Amino acid sequence: MSRVVGTPDPAPVAPRVPSRWDPARAPAGGLEQLVYRSNLLGADRSVANFGGGNTSAKTRERDHTGRELDVLWVKGSGSDLATMDASGFTGLRLAEIQPLIERDEMSDEEMVAFLARCQLAPDMPRSSIETLLHAFVPAPHVDHTHPDAINMLAGAADGEAMVRELFGDEAVWVPYIRPGFALAKQVGLAARREGVRFVILAKHGLVTWGRSGEESYARTIEAINRAADYVTAEAAGRARFGGPARTPLDDAARERLLAEALPAIRGAVSSERAKVLLVDAAPATLEFVSSRDGRELSQVGAACPDHLVHTKRVPLWVPYDPAVDDAAALGARVRELAARYRDEYRAYVAAHARSGEAIADPDPRVVLIEGVGMVAVGADVKAARLARDLYHRAIAVMGGASAIDRFVSLSAAESFAVEYWPLELYKLSLAPSPRELAGRVALVTGAAGGIGSAVVAALAAEGAVVVAADIDAEGAARVADAYGERGLGVAMDVTSEEAVAAAYREAVLRYGGVDIVVSNAGIASSAPIEETTAAEWDRNHAILARGYFLVAREAFKLLRRQGTGGSVVFVASKNALVAGKNAAAYSTAKAAELHLARCLAEEGGAAGIRVNTVNPDAVLQGSRIWGSSWRQERAAAYDIDPDQLEEHYRARTTLKVNILPEDIAQAVLHFASAARSGKSTGNVLNVDGGVPAAYTR
Ligand code: ZN
Repeated sequence: MSRVVGTPDPAPVAPRVPSRWDPARAPAGGLEQLVYRSNLLGADRSVANFGGGNTSAKTRERDHTGRELDVLWVKGSGSDLATMDASGFTGLRLAEIQPLIERDEMSDEEMVAFLARCQLAPDMPRSSIETLLHAFVPAPHVDHTHPDAINMLAGAADGEAMVRELFGDEAVWVPYIRPGFALAKQVGLAARREGVRFVILAKHGLVTWGRSGEESYARTIEAINRAADYVTAEAAGRARFGGPARTPLDDAARERLLAEALPAIRGAVSSERAKVLLVDAAPATLEFVSSRDGRELSQVGAACPDHLVHTKRVPLWVPYDPAVDDAAALGARVRELAARYRDEYRAYVAAHARSGEAIADPDPRVVLIEGVGMVAVGADVKAARLARDLYHRAIAVMGGASAIDRFVSLSAAESFAVEYWPLELYKLSLAPSPRELAGRVALVTGAAGGIGSAVVAALAAEGAVVVAADIDAEGAARVADAYGERGLGVAMDVTSEEAVAAAYREAVLRYGGVDIVVSNAGIASSAPIEETTAAEWDRNHAILARGYFLVAREAFKLLRRQGTGGSVVFVASKNALVAGKNAAAYSTAKAAELHLARCLAEEGGAAGIRVNTVNPDAVLQGSRIWGSSWRQERAAAYDIDPDQLEEHYRARTTLKVNILPEDIAQAVLHFASAARSGKSTGNVLNVDGGVPAAYTR
C-alpha cells in the first residue's frame, strides 16, 4: 500500500479489547456487582459508547411488604454505563414481565405503561427501552452493547454469512428491527436455543448472557475479540477507507486555517440556535477525512442506531483544497453546504413523518472537512463532545466494515423511526431544558477581578460558555476552572494588539467563536491635574480607551465573520458621565470608552451587533482597583478615612445602597442576552444606587 508523505500511521482496523474484570475488586453479586460490571463495559468506549448499551441482573429481594420475590435490575433510561451507580438501575417484578413473551405483539406505549407498573418503587428511573430483552433472555445476567468490532460485522452487507463462518451455531443473527417487544422476543427465543452463546443484532450490536456476571462480561469480551481477530485477518493487506487521497494539513496549518474559518462555520451551523464547536484531529479522524472513500462512506448512514439523535443520519462533508481555498472560501462553502444540508434534512423528515412530528434542529452535528479534520457541533459543550465521541465510533466501524465488505446502515425510513422515536426522544427530554444563554460563548476581560468574575458567574449561570480573559493568566484560569469544560482561561493584555488577537484565537479554536464580549478590564488613578503625570494619563488611556478599542475591533471582525449578530458590553463608570475632581485621566478615558461604545453601536447595527454600556459606581467589594492606591487617593479627595469610604458612597446615593459586583453582573447580563435586550443598542445603564449628576438626558 502506498502512503502519502505525512499521513499518520493507520490505526489497527479492529483492535482487541482487554478484560478488565478484577476478581479482587469485583463485588460478590447482587446490584453492587451489576454496577461494577456496567462500569467495566463503559470504561472502554469501543465496547459501550456514551449512554449506549444496557445491562441487567436477576436477583432475589424482599419488597416493601417483606415478601421475597424475583427482581430484574435493569439500567434506567438516560444513564451511562461508565459512570452509573446503583441509583441508575430500576428494579422490576420479574414474575409479572416474563409471561409477556407468550404474546404476539405489544406496542411501545403499552410496553412502557406495563413496565412502569412492575417497578419496585415509583421513584426509580424509567427502565431501559430494551428491558424486555433482558427479561426474556433466560439467564441471570445479560449485557447488551454496541461494540466497534461486532458492529463491523453487523454493519457489513454480507455480515450474516461472516457471523455464521466465525461463530457457527454459537451465535444467532437477528436482522435489523427497531428495539421493542418484537426484537426482545426474537432475542429471548434465540437465546433459548441449544448451544447459542451470543446474539448479533444486525446494524446494531451484541447481546450476551451468563450464569454469573463475570461469565456474561467475559462473553462480551470474547465475542468482541473473536470479531476483531476475524476482521483483522479479513482486512489484511487492504487499506482502510481505500487508502489516503491527500495529505492532511499539519497542526500549525490546520490551526491557522480554522482560527479564521471557524466563526463562519459556527454561524453556518447555528441556524435556529447557537452552537458550540469542537475541533477534532485525532489520527483516525485525519485518516478518514483524507481518504479516498471517506466521503462516500460518510453518507451511507449511522453506524449504530444509538448515534442518530446525537449525530444525525449523516455528517456534512466539506471539500477543501489547500492549494486554492483560503479560510474565507472554506467558510463560504460551509455556509452554502449547510443550507443544502438543512433542506435535505427537512425533506427527509417530510418524507417519513407520519404523525406530525416536530422537526428537530436541522443543523448538521458533525462537519468533516477534507484533509483538515472534524468539527463536532452541539447545543452545548457536552453535546458537541458527545457528537465527536460517537463519530469516532462510527469511523472505527466504517473502517472495519468497509475493509472486509461493503458498509451498510439503516435505511432512511429506519433511521427516521429511531431518530423520531418517542422512546428515544424521552431520553433527551430527561436533560434540563436549555438555559437562556445555552450555546453562547461569552468572553469577559478583567475576569479575574471582582466585577469580572461576577459577570462570568452570571453568564455561566444562564448557560453560556465562558472565556475568562485577564492580564493575570493564573487568575483567569482559576475563574474559568470553576466551570469545567464550559470555561476557558486566557491571558490578555488589552493594550497589546497581538495579545488581544491571540486570546480571541484561543477562544475560537476551543469553542468555534464568540457571541458576547464584556469589556471590563480596568484600572483607576486619582490625582489633581497638576500632579497627574503623563505616564499616568497614558496608562489610563492605554487600558480604558485603546484597550476597549482593540478588544472591540477583534470582536467586530469575528462577529462579522460569524454572521449571527452579537452583543458587546462595555463596563465603564459613572465618571464617564459625571465630571468629578482629581480623576481627570481616569474620567476622560472612561468618557472615551463610553463614546466609543456609542460609535460602535452605529457601526454594528446593520450586522445585528449591539453595543451597550453599564456604568458602575463605587463597587468596592472584591475589586482590585479598590485594593490599590485608588482607595487612599479617593479617601483623600473626599477628606475622609479610607474605612469610611463605603459608608460615604452609600450615603451619597439616592437609594442609600452599596453597589456589589453581582449588581453590575445582572446589568451586563441584561445587555448580553438578546432575549432581554435584543432591541437595545447604544444604551447606558447606570448601576450606581442613583447619582443625580449621572442621570442621562
Ligand atoms: Zn442497543
